[in-house]
Amino acid sequence: MKAVRLEAVGSIALRDVPKPAPGPEDLLVRIEACGVCGTDRHLFHGEFPCRPPVTPGHEFSGIIEAVGSGVSGFSVGDRVTGDPNIACGRCGHCHAGRVNLCRNLNAIGIHRDGGFADYVLLPQKQAFRLPANLKPTHGAFCEPLACCLHGIDLAGIRPGASVVVLGGGVIGLVTVQLARLAGASTIILSTRQASRRALAEELGATATVDPGAGDVIDAISGPKGLVPGGVDVVLECAGVRDTVEQSMRIAKAGGTVIIVGVVPQGMKVEIEPFDLLFRELKVLGSFLNPFTHGRAAELIASGAIEIDRLISRQVPLEEAAAVIANPPAPGEVKVLVVPGRG
Ligand code: NAP
Ligand code: ZN
Repeated sequence: MKAVRLEAVGSIALRDVPKPAPGPEDLLVRIEACGVCGTDRHLFHGEFPCRPPVTPGHEFSGIIEAVGSGVSGFSVGDRVTGDPNIACGRCGHCHAGRVNLCRNLNAIGIHRDGGFADYVLLPQKQAFRLPANLKPTHGAFCEPLACCLHGIDLAGIRPGASVVVLGGGVIGLVTVQLARLAGASTIILSTRQASRRALAEELGATATVDPGAGDVIDAISGPKGLVPGGVDVVLECAGVRDTVEQSMRIAKAGGTVIIVGVVPQGMKVEIEPFDLLFRELKVLGSFLNPFTHGRAAELIASGAIEIDRLISRQVPLEEAAAVIANPPAPGEVKVLVVPGRG
């Protein structure tokens, strides 16, 4: 079979590799689609720890082609999505139900071979069934959706709440949709690219802000802003210093800030502890997808999340290495790798 191999930092190419044989607990899944994520680019540049040689790709779904001898509840021909984050189940965090904090996390597409290939091995405990009539490309969105769901869960959005999302990549655009489903009545997205602001308004944002056009804090929470005094919940989905600093100024007193974006390790931001204390802000990190992958699969299956407009391009396996090795094109939201499309 074909697989995109990250052979070392800065070295990625399509190779012929043996088709894997399922162990007793494994499903052999023929990939229908696998999303390219910023993390794949970080792996290529050596900015995220992994163990090359490895096949990246952690946002995948496909059709079961074979099952191991110990598999039950799944059959050949089923469409499945995989939660790539395999927790050890034995460490203190796993025992406490904090599986995303597992000390021995073993992730498909990072530590073991993933979905930029014709086939992937998926342990049955990481698999979730998808409907047979689902569009094959939609299953690849379960993983990013599951991460956004964790952020939304932590945010505790109540009907009528005011919400700001900072950053209009796929994570921000999915988070806007989830905030709408959670009942927020005001949903403001700040992102630099006009095409993404327009898309966000179609997906449920009640207003958008261009961070290049003036002070974002004034525009949102200033006396003449969209929500004078600030909003109930801010979800930081850009992972840059500016937006992290803005997030704590845009939340109202008693409000909640969720940090979803991955700021480069070691980068520092300015915060004013007095402000945190005086306005009793809650600032929480949201990491991965603890116990949200099944709900993500349900949501995708229900059609409640607009997916098609988030797909910018579909490319064959032959083009995947180049997509990963290069920065995203302007306006691009999600690129899907679809084996056999070439
Ligand atoms: P992305 O496409 O890079 O989205 C981030 C977007 O933020 C950028 O595309 C950019 O869009 C926007 N941005 C940059 N600077 C900005 C600024 N000053 N003000 C407003 N917006 C700004 O990546 P993504 O896939 O959506 O992911 C978003 C973040 O979440 C990344 O840091 C990613 O690593 C992280 N992530 C976290 C988890 C988790 O478990 N916590 C899971 C998945 C991803 P414009 O060009 O339009 O401004
Ligand atoms: Zn563990």
